[in-house]
Amino acid sequence: MKKLQAIKGMNDILPSETPYWQYLESVVTEVVQNYGYQEIRFPLLESTELFKRSIGEVTDIVEKEMYTFDDRNGESVTLRPEGTASCVRAAEQHQLLFNRATLVQKIWYAGPMFRYEKPQKGRLRQFHQVGVEAYGIETPDADAEILMLTARLWRALGMESAVTLQINSLGTSESRADYRAALVTYLEARRDQLDEDSVRRLESNPLRILDSKVETTQALLIGAPDLADFLDDESKEHFAQLQRYLTAADVPFVVNTRLVRGLDYYSRTVFEWVTDKLGAQGTVCAGGRYDSLVTQLGGKPTPAVGFAMGLERLVLLLQELNAFPEDISRTVDVYLVAVGDVMPQAFQLAEYLREHASYLRVQLNCGGGSFKSQMKKADRSGAEIALILGEDEANNGEITLKYLRSDEAQQTIKQQQITDIIF
Ligand code: ATP
Ligand code: MG
Repeated sequence: MKKLQAIKGMNDILPSETPYWQYLESVVTEVVQNYGYQEIRFPLLESTELFKRSIGEVTDIVEKEMYTFDDRNGESVTLRPEGTASCVRAAEQHQLLFNRATLVQKIWYAGPMFRYEKPQKGRLRQFHQVGVEAYGIETPDADAEILMLTARLWRALGMESAVTLQINSLGTSESRADYRAALVTYLEARRDQLDEDSVRRLESNPLRILDSKVETTQALLIGAPDLADFLDDESKEHFAQLQRYLTAADVPFVVNTRLVRGLDYYSRTVFEWVTDKLGAQGTVCAGGRYDSLVTQLGGKPTPAVGFAMGLERLVLLLQELNAFPEDISRTVDVYLVAVGDVMPQAFQLAEYLREHASYLRVQLNCGGGSFKSQMKKADRSGAEIALILGEDEANNGEITLKYLRSDEAQQTIKQQQITDIIF
């Protein structure tokens, strides 16, 4: 029989790895809540139309990365490739954006996303994102604050020196149209040197060529017209104000006028946090302003700014940096060794500890075994302390306490005293 295996690019996150994820998720949760964000949870499956209309037909995601299929009723559905579209859909559907009574402007989400990509380190087919979206604020203070949030997160994780912030402004759709024309003229003259995808995009969506991963195309772009020279005055001022706020807040950044994003809905601010420690998959967090998406999906005009970060890449980076807390993979604090006919008393003792110190992770030896084999298991569990309950101890209401990670002498004490020592 053929061995059953997970689908390529869809990883199991094993018990030995989940502590890293839980730690990262808990720090992220704390920081976003620090800024007053509220969590939203939306379905993994949405109508295909939603992503086509938001992300854009001529993007990598919609053209070749979506898991799209017909359900049993013949409706085209898609496993979500990202969160912003669903977030806007849900916010609109439940009138979160314009109902004063339930006004929620700051929303975050976390969970798996699906893209049919070539799996490699830091690039999966099922991957995980945390996203943050702020609605209703047009001014660049919202952009600045969301970037301060990310900067705080990197500090909280101890990885601030490994990432750099790149920012750019895409201007309005009008100013982009002028730039688009100039870019097309430039690239038309070099059409024969462009890769196949880029040639196609020359007609459909030329700005996307700037985001091409093909090296020869990137080289060709070095002399291309600069988006910054085409910005309208208001976008210029918006961008300048953002930079002043970031400088005042001590968030270092680099302006990269070639930075565009892989999704069509952005306007004005776009940004990426990048690291040089993960090879080609160097972007750990990316986002920007998307002032026209809500109307594009049928809602009232609502400015918006947000980002998504890739948790796989962050876990890899934190491991690379040795930035996880040292004892992170320890899952047991106290191992209770029970030798002989003492299980009822052992249960009682273990429950007592769990009752009175809920932070303690207590593992009771089940399945019997000799003293020696149980002590071996205690050691392998990573526990700091072994509590030993043999028949003598049980009869005398005592317990033997042995420190597994230090030379401190073992001691036999009354069971009532245990809380004085362990808690
Ligand atoms: P890339 O250029 O690396 O393909 P993207 O521009 O497609 O990224 P976004 O859609 O902006 O990425 O998603 C935000 C973040 O989610 C990325 O910066 C990255 O950290 C993460 N991410 C995106 N696609 C994947 C994937 N297939 N596997 C793992 N993480 C991913
Ligand atoms: Mg991509």
